[in-house]
Amino acid sequence: MIVMKFGGTSVEDAAAIDRAAAIVRGRLPDQPAVVVSALARVTDTLLATARAAGQGDREKALELSRGLRERHYATAGELLGTGIFTRFHGELEAEFDSLDELLRGVSAVGELTPRTLDHVAGFGERIASKMVAEAFSARGLDASQVDSRQCIVTDSTFTRAIPQFDETNLKLEKIVRPLFEQRRVPVMGGYIAATRDGVTTTLGRGGSDFTAAILGAGLSAERIEIWTDVDGMMTTDPALCANARRIKSISFDEAAELAYFGAKVLHPATLLPAVQKNIPVRVLNSRNPKNEGTVITARAPKCRNLFKAIAAKRRITIVDVVATRMLMAHGYLRSIFEVFDRHKCPVDMVSTSEVSVSLTVDSNEAIPAVAADLQKLADVKYEGRKAIVCLVGENIRNTPGIAAKVFGAIPDLSVRMISQGASEINLSFVIDEDDVPRCVQALHAAFFADPDPEVFGEVMQDRGRK
Ligand code: ASP
Ligand code: MG
Repeated sequence: MIVMKFGGTSVEDAAAIDRAAAIVRGRLPDQPAVVVSALARVTDTLLATARAAGQGDREKALELSRGLRERHYATAGELLGTGIFTRFHGELEAEFDSLDELLRGVSAVGELTPRTLDHVAGFGERIASKMVAEAFSARGLDASQVDSRQCIVTDSTFTRAIPQFDETNLKLEKIVRPLFEQRRVPVMGGYIAATRDGVTTTLGRGGSDFTAAILGAGLSAERIEIWTDVDGMMTTDPALCANARRIKSISFDEAAELAYFGAKVLHPATLLPAVQKNIPVRVLNSRNPKNEGTVITARAPKCRNLFKAIAAKRRITIVDVVATRMLMAHGYLRSIFEVFDRHKCPVDMVSTSEVSVSLTVDSNEAIPAVAADLQKLADVKYEGRKAIVCLVGENIRNTPGIAAKVFGAIPDLSVRMISQGASEINLSFVIDEDDVPRCVQALHAAFFADPDPEVFGEVMQDRGRK
């Protein structure tokens, strides 16, 4: 069997769901199980709805819910023939009525517990999976909606619940596996799950990929397909560099390094259950299904090129902390990091000398307050409008002279911080934000002039999306 997960943009409206049906039909011989996200942006709206209710703003909560109701009615109307629609409309109506009832209750009390929040947040996936299953059936696919809460068992850490794999796998065998024997296509909502006692939970934002991996690992899928709206991962941002190419194949570790850099195709941590079982995960474009996308595997095939990708992250601030007191002292770094911790300000890159520490953080409003606190310990300077540039590739591990090669390609750029060795497959450095295009173009020209055809595909068009 295989798992096919369709993200929000791949089920955003009737046309998208229609495309998804055609894609699934083409895979029937592989015994697909389908996982769907909520329609694009629905989860954001649901969270806003729940928050409004929690603040006692009943009118706003109900108005947001009405918008969602209308969008789902309209989509279902477009997708389904009159006969099915009439029945399904009744079902949708009952679901939205009970959502509204809940929202009225929350507004009256003016308190939103994490448990209730999850109940509201998972509504989008529940409805989407029902609607997609109906649409598939109306198109001659033998689909069965499966309520994910019946088979994905988690603890009760609401809003980011942790799957209980043994129990989940038993349920998947019992509930999902038999559907294949009946030649049916299971359709499940991603993101949503339940505790052992049946209380609704969610797996955290972007959790539908996690559901796909849990399902694939549990049922030993041949592969997992993540259907999204881009042709997979790229050697770099095509908006920065006209020669950016599709990466055909990347290792899980490489993909994980790139995730921080806004390669927001997916959050690789969610794929762990699949990767641990050696199940390949393929990222594909539902608007361009012929493209082979990018396959993520536990171990990447050999690659002639030194790097797989070059990524840049802007809006970085460097914080320089200088203290002669640090010389030979211990516990000093701890006192510095405690300040960042207190302000809940994540630190990304760190470099130290005997008397100074430089750190990078994503630019944010907390920085002046952080600096004021650090000032009590040392001299502090901070400077925004920086960027981290990062080169990723498994070959970094066993190639001598990497730094010389990288910095030799950008001789006229001033580099503020360098980090290599923290991960064996990542070399990162900090430059001025304005230098990013020049830097990335020079590096891409130096390292991807002769791309290994086994690992890299066609040049990607910049579609103006970021
Ligand atoms: N709909 C959920 C979210 O937006 C889960 C997902 O799409 O993966 O976070
Ligand atoms: Mg997603």
